[in-house]
Amino acid sequence: MNNFSFYNPTKIIFGEGQIASIAKEIPVEARVMLAYGGGSIKNNGVYDQVIDALGERIVCEFSGIEANPEFDTLCRAADAVNEHRITFILAVGGGSVIDGVKFIAAAAQYNGDRWDILTKGGKVIQSAVPFGSVLTLPATGSEMNSGSVVTRSAMKAKLPFGSPHVYPQFSVLDPVTTYSLPIRQVINGVIDPFTHVMEQYLTYPVGAHLQDRLAEAILKTLIELGPETLAQPKNYEVRANVMWCATMALNGLIGSGVPQDWSTHMIGHELTALYGLDHAQTLAVVLPANLRVRKADKLPKLVQYAERVWGITEGSDEERAEAAITRTEEFFRNLGAGTRIEDYDLSADVIDVIIKQLESHGMVKLGEHRDVTPEVSRKILETALR
Ligand code: NAP
Ligand code: FE
Repeated sequence: MNNFSFYNPTKIIFGEGQIASIAKEIPVEARVMLAYGGGSIKNNGVYDQVIDALGERIVCEFSGIEANPEFDTLCRAADAVNEHRITFILAVGGGSVIDGVKFIAAAAQYNGDRWDILTKGGKVIQSAVPFGSVLTLPATGSEMNSGSVVTRSAMKAKLPFGSPHVYPQFSVLDPVTTYSLPIRQVINGVIDPFTHVMEQYLTYPVGAHLQDRLAEAILKTLIELGPETLAQPKNYEVRANVMWCATMALNGLIGSGVPQDWSTHMIGHELTALYGLDHAQTLAVVLPANLRVRKADKLPKLVQYAERVWGITEGSDEERAEAAITRTEEFFRNLGAGTRIEDYDLSADVIDVIIKQLESHGMVKLGEHRDVTPEVSRKILETALR
């Protein structure tokens, strides 16, 4: 196991009816920015619950944070934070709103060029406005981590940053808020956490037995409940378990002391920035191809994954690894996701464009061994084509 420090200060408040408890978490004298997206919270009752809980506090609303939050929008919000002397931000929505609020919270207190926050991966952040979240789309884990991804469409860029200053102080996870999710987002909400686990688990060498078992538990739970959460949108128990899986998949616990890959995510970000695929759609396309291209490097872990997660015990190591990758891809397809570039009406000519963008963003040494060069990324994309 590698050396590590594990720190996670986010308080999770889980369960039906828990939105009311934000009244106890936000100081009564706070000047609150209520930040949200395109309005889904107004149709499913979440907005009303939040307004009730905020009570007499001074509240300034900022709506319209896009899916794949936009740099320019977030900069306007950061200006509004300063203009209205906001002391607490409440993010209400999915990963995009929470990621967006992380950027807003940091950008409001950053005096330099705000683009630095993204090009320097968050290292320039010295402080941030305190914030909390009410999660309505379990997928990203953003509710309990210190990472964020921001898009700047004008530059066709989608870049991540992270900072210990941008952990939410608290996050409310009420599974009932997910009942109104469209099918496509429910699918995304299984594939994104599944891939988060794979980016931390399917690495080699490790020797982190507990982290492996925890990761396998999350994968198996998602495999078991993924189809059920699609088929039974109002099954509280199923929704609650999937919601908690998504948080546990990326709150630092299973990633402690292990090498981490993230090449699937970085290649996927380019697909979203260039062609508008949903985040999780890109992962379902890139992950199976990535595992195929790097099968030899990851072989011992793929064999473990095959046996423990999919119960595959027959055949040579190579055959078991290949069978496990096929099962992974079938799992995504059976949920309803495309797993090939051509499923999204894109053709081979996108590959050059994506590689150019990866190079221009410095994404040239990806993966747990920094050996996913543009040539390897190209092979992955070629494998993912059809
Ligand atoms: P999202 O972009 O936050 O939301 C997608 C759509 O779902 C929006 O249109 C949203 O509508 C709608 N929605 C949300 N909750 C709903 C509900 N309860 N009922 C009905 N509709 C609802 O999706 P996401 O997958 O959570 O976030 C994706 C972003 O997170 C990407 O930018 C991705 O790169 C990033 N990400 C971050 C991390 C991290 O660790 N921070 C990890 C992985 C991915 P409204 O706009 O109306 O709310
Ligand atoms: Fe993700």
